[in-house]
Amino acid sequence: MLHTVDAFSRIGEENAFAVLARATDLARQGRDIINLGIGQPDFRTPDHIVEAAIQALRDGHHGYTPATGILPLREAVAADILKRTGAEVSPERVLIVPGGKVTMYMAILMFGEPGADIMYPDPGFPIYRSMIEYTGARPIPVPIREENGFAFSAEETLSLITPQTRLLILNSPANPTGGVTPKAEIDKLVAGLARFPDVAIMSDEIYGQMTYDGLAHQSLMSYPEIRDRLILLDGWSKTYAMTGWRMGFSVWPDKLYENARKLAVNSYSCVNASAQYAGLAALTGPQDAVHAMVAEFDRRRRVVTEGLNALPNVSAAVPKGAFYAFPNVSKTGWKAKPLASALLEKAGVATIGGPDFGVYGEGYIRLSYANSTENIRKALARIGEFLDSERPA
Ligand code: PLP
Repeated sequence: MLHTVDAFSRIGEENAFAVLARATDLARQGRDIINLGIGQPDFRTPDHIVEAAIQALRDGHHGYTPATGILPLREAVAADILKRTGAEVSPERVLIVPGGKVTMYMAILMFGEPGADIMYPDPGFPIYRSMIEYTGARPIPVPIREENGFAFSAEETLSLITPQTRLLILNSPANPTGGVTPKAEIDKLVAGLARFPDVAIMSDEIYGQMTYDGLAHQSLMSYPEIRDRLILLDGWSKTYAMTGWRMGFSVWPDKLYENARKLAVNSYSCVNASAQYAGLAALTGPQDAVHAMVAEFDRRRRVVTEGLNALPNVSAAVPKGAFYAFPNVSKTGWKAKPLASALLEKAGVATIGGPDFGVYGEGYIRLSYANSTENIRKALARIGEFLDSERPA
């Protein structure tokens, strides 16, 4: 008998990958599947970024780099943060990590243990809760409500802090709702956090450059009063269509940076060297591809929302950020997970059931509009036909 630690009975995963596997299986069997399940841009990484990686390999960047990442890249991240948020960050506090996810993994490992509370958005990225449970800490969901525009509420968040709370996880623009929390609400939260100086904050801003309607992204980095306890999670995956490169960055308070660096040394040593050069080209090169991609998501966002609202008993708020719609399907008579599963099996449309993002996700499904307008329209027509003809069991 092999004896692994109990923690593995509590660790979860991301159902989006299981849906992707099932969708791929069905497609292999000859079914015509439209995938609105997976959260990655349907664009190629811009050519100049790909070329930079190829050049780095030709130039002989084949070895280990510092565990924290190459200095020019950390400097470029610091410059990018300054430009986008006005916050001055030392490159000595920037850590290059293999994907945005690694930052949450490290942060939750640093604060989670039995007896500790960690707060996270629900519905939210499923790995937050999974990792909190893995550490034995108590997961405290912060409800994200449609009636609040899928923003988090400062008042409700502050009311859930306990003497055991060690870490508060925030995410705006948000997965899976497309919600963006307004500046006034973030101001209020930061002001309230002054009463809880022992609570660390991890702000997941991986969709920070994907906001619409002229809405500015409000980074938590722009509040100097919490900088000594703020961990920023960001990366290249979404902004530069680089999900498969595994490139992320984080900014850590001085006192936590050494812990993060040691976790890197104890696990992956450093991020792939050529990918780091690609990341450098992404930050320092032209940004037109980013703007063009966001403009295209903006167009599709309207198509998907109009189409969803035209479906029987479905209503969808207009997403303000990221590339997800999170329609309310509670009036269809279907529970969200059986609906998502029937849509894949019977209508050939992959979506994710809201409960895969937490208990407050019941009544919703997530559609990623990182797919062509033509496919989005086709998928909406199929969902409409399905809802007209099928009844829940
Ligand atoms: N944070 C959120 C909110 C996400 O939606 C994702 C990916 O879907 C990540 C982090 C992880 O990004 P990465 O693929 O860079 O690990």
